[in-house]
Amino acid sequence: MTELPTSDIRPASPELALVPGRSCDGCTLCCKLMGIEEIGKARGAWCPDCDKSRGCKIYDSRPEACRTFHCGYLRIPHLDEHWKPSKARFLINFESAANRIVVHADPDRPEAWKRAPYLAQIKHWSHKMLLEGGYVLVWSGPEATIVLPWGDKPLGRVREEQYILQVKTGGVPDFIVVEPDDPRAHRGH
Ligand code: SF4
Ligand code: SF4
Repeated sequence: MTELPTSDIRPASPELALVPGRSCDGCTLCCKLMGIEEIGKARGAWCPDCDKSRGCKIYDSRPEACRTFHCGYLRIPHLDEHWKPSKARFLINFESAANRIVVHADPDRPEAWKRAPYLAQIKHWSHKMLLEGGYVLVWSGPEATIVLPWGDKPLGRVREEQYILQVKTGGVPDFIVVEPDDPRAHRGH
């Protein structure tokens, strides 16, 4: 697989624009991996309203966060069929506001993103994102890890209201977690 530059994973528009021909058919993984504040659903836990084989049981009244969510596979043309979450066993997204690529791993398969062909691509993005002031983050349930070219940095459990900040330690990028009332919090997400 040819390595994709970071520009290829930034959706062309923050507005909804789905790649023609892509669909959720056969996949319900975001209903497990994503946290949904409106219904108090934690990351990495199946939503009680998900029928894994058929989809959302409350489709017409599903929360706004579910209505507006489309994973990177649906929105980013350069992520080919290898990246369909039902095949990859994780999903990937680009968060523009935080300037970060996010891998949402399945706590039951936390190493899936480390398989070929994914790991080489994710490490490549990690290198490039650091040069562009961003980073690559992996969520596995509430556990966060920063992917770095020279070795990953586990951040442990990070609460939804906390912020992840990039700092420099001796000129080397490092990452810390701060509380929302920390004066530095506005710099992170
Ligand atoms: S993870 Fe992506 S492809 Fe799968 S159901 Fe959710 S939005 Fe659709
Ligand atoms: S409410 Fe429906 S769409 Fe939203 S996470 Fe639950 S099953 Fe999925």
